[in-house]
Amino acid sequence: MGVVIAEHVRKIYRAGETEVEALRGVSFEIAAASFVSFVGPSGSGKTTLLNLIGCLDTPSAGRLTVCGTDVSTLGRSAGAGFRGQEIGFIFQDFNLLPVLTVYENVEYPLLMVRKTPEAQRRERVLRLLDAVGMLEQKDKYPDQISGGQKQRVAVARALVTEPKLVLADEPTANLDHATAALVIALMKRMRDQFRTTFVFSTHDPRIVGEAEIIHTLEDGELTGSTSQGGANG
Ligand code: ADP
Ligand code: MG
Repeated sequence: MGVVIAEHVRKIYRAGETEVEALRGVSFEIAAASFVSFVGPSGSGKTTLLNLIGCLDTPSAGRLTVCGTDVSTLGRSAGAGFRGQEIGFIFQDFNLLPVLTVYENVEYPLLMVRKTPEAQRRERVLRLLDAVGMLEQKDKYPDQISGGQKQRVAVARALVTEPKLVLADEPTANLDHATAALVIALMKRMRDQFRTTFVFSTHDPRIVGEAEIIHTLEDGELTGSTSQGGANG
């Protein structure tokens, strides 16, 4: 069964008199361990879709099933709990906590959501910081590192819980070429090792090139889906 199953999902934002239909009934299925990218112009609904899959918001209509749970109707706190257990989210603007160090930011989900024991926590945090090349910066605060470095920390934080599903909203938008390649390679390795499912939104041809399945969104509608090279289902 698909890790994500969307059936006629719609999202309408209302602000006073104005209504924006950000998703106009999209249906698709994402298989376990796949590397999937949603592409499309700005305003086409990519962030909206990832936010729905990540339980940051709920659909206005339709049904959305994530890791076997119908998330269409989960309330705020149930959604947050579900996200903490199943999903790693890499936000476009990083969302690092400014009062915590790099190390503490990556440790946070293990501490707050998973309640992982200290020794195991430390081992995992250091391993992930090493993997994204941020070990030497571990005691710095977010405002002492660059945008690209923040993004690498955000990636480490999303992966540290070894979630089943990782959602990444334009994850390489602020990365230089070498770092983007490193981050993509790290994600692929994780997919191969843990069968993690990765779902991106991106404009970045480097990620589009790495994706096995590409869904195109235009004005809230899914207008095309293609598979490319080496897809392993
Ligand atoms: P993308 O990520 O592809 O750029 P978004 O999902 O951010 O697209 O936006 C899709 C549409 O929904 C756009 O027209 C955007 O202006 C609108 N939109 C997104 N978020 C909100 C919101 N919170 N309130 C009202 N309109 C929104
Ligand atoms: Mg967006």
